[in-house]
Amino acid sequence: MFTPFDSLHITIKPKGAICNLSCKYCYYLRKKSLCNNTDFSINLKTYINLLENLKNFANRSSITWQGGEPTLRGLDFFYEAINYQKIHGIKIKNCFQTNGTNLNEEWVKFFKENDFLIGISLDGPKNLHEKNRVSVTHESYYDKIIENINLLKKYGVDFNILCTVNKENVRYPREVYEYFVNTLKVNFLQFIPIVQSEKGSGFNRENVLNPQSITPKEYEDFIISVFDLWYKKDVGKVSVQLFEVIMASWLGTEHGLCEFQKNCGQALLMEHNGDIYACDHFAEKDFLLGNINEKSLKELFDNKMFYDFRAYKRENVSKECIACKYFFICHGECPKNWIVRDKEGKRKNYLCESYKRIFDYTSDKLLALIKR
Ligand code: SF4
Ligand code: SF4
Repeated sequence: MFTPFDSLHITIKPKGAICNLSCKYCYYLRKKSLCNNTDFSINLKTYINLLENLKNFANRSSITWQGGEPTLRGLDFFYEAINYQKIHGIKIKNCFQTNGTNLNEEWVKFFKENDFLIGISLDGPKNLHEKNRVSVTHESYYDKIIENINLLKKYGVDFNILCTVNKENVRYPREVYEYFVNTLKVNFLQFIPIVQSEKGSGFNRENVLNPQSITPKEYEDFIISVFDLWYKKDVGKVSVQLFEVIMASWLGTEHGLCEFQKNCGQALLMEHNGDIYACDHFAEKDFLLGNINEKSLKELFDNKMFYDFRAYKRENVSKECIACKYFFICHGECPKNWIVRDKEGKRKNYLCESYKRIFDYTSDKLLALIKR
């Protein structure tokens, strides 16, 4: 049943779903209820148990520290965690996804010394960002985030901006893009469409989206506008993840965008207490593989539920997708977004029409870049 992975990506929630912000579209805050635990802090033993498994297991592994807000676990924990990787010669790429509010010089120096890749969640200029990314205490953190982005730049830390495309900023692609590139002078951008069911994640949810979710047409218009701006003057200077992924697909090379992979199951989630789930978007009791403090990863993987999860996308993708000329790029996208029906009544990707138009619009131009 079990096939070892070539590479494995695991997201760790060092402070569970605890966060100092309360973003309106956050899919994870409600996950506090997953654990009967009042502290939500990962301990070193749990982390070491995972690390020892990764060492023996995957040839190429990466960890993304995420939340909630991972800085809330405290820098002392991360010093110890990374020290363990170094002492035991465990080579793992560390990524860190943060809302950017809690960083300071000490954090930034630590990231630089340990070659972390940082993702800062920012939805554009202040007026757009703060429409959804609100703090628990209602104070504004925006200036602090910008100050911390400047610290990352000062110390030469690799970072990118993760911008959700939501109901508030979707009508302002130029303002958002030009703010990142011209004002903040950031060179790596990811745009994540907000498509969120009111009922949380999981397969076979009904099509009831929360108010921050965008329509396929809105997403398509946003991305095509960003593409035009990027193509006109920033090719080779600015990296936009989606365009790189489309190019990689045309070239037949690998990329790291999980949603466009052929199979699910190579991007696990570990909660602070060691519970391992099949995917960050499926952190639900039905997709709990077990706990790393009780079983090895190999034992956790040797599990019918995980086998079924890995096969689900491949075996259930709509026939319309298989026949689609862009199947080799998007592979039906992420099953969490399979909330509309195809002509046979089978579930299909909500963003399908927008992707088709984005691929139609960009492919010739991207192919021309490849041939340059
Ligand atoms: S469900 Fe989506 S995010 Fe999770 S592994 Fe599959 S494609 Fe990736
Ligand atoms: S573009 Fe649409 S039809 Fe084509 S593979 Fe993607 S989701 Fe399926």
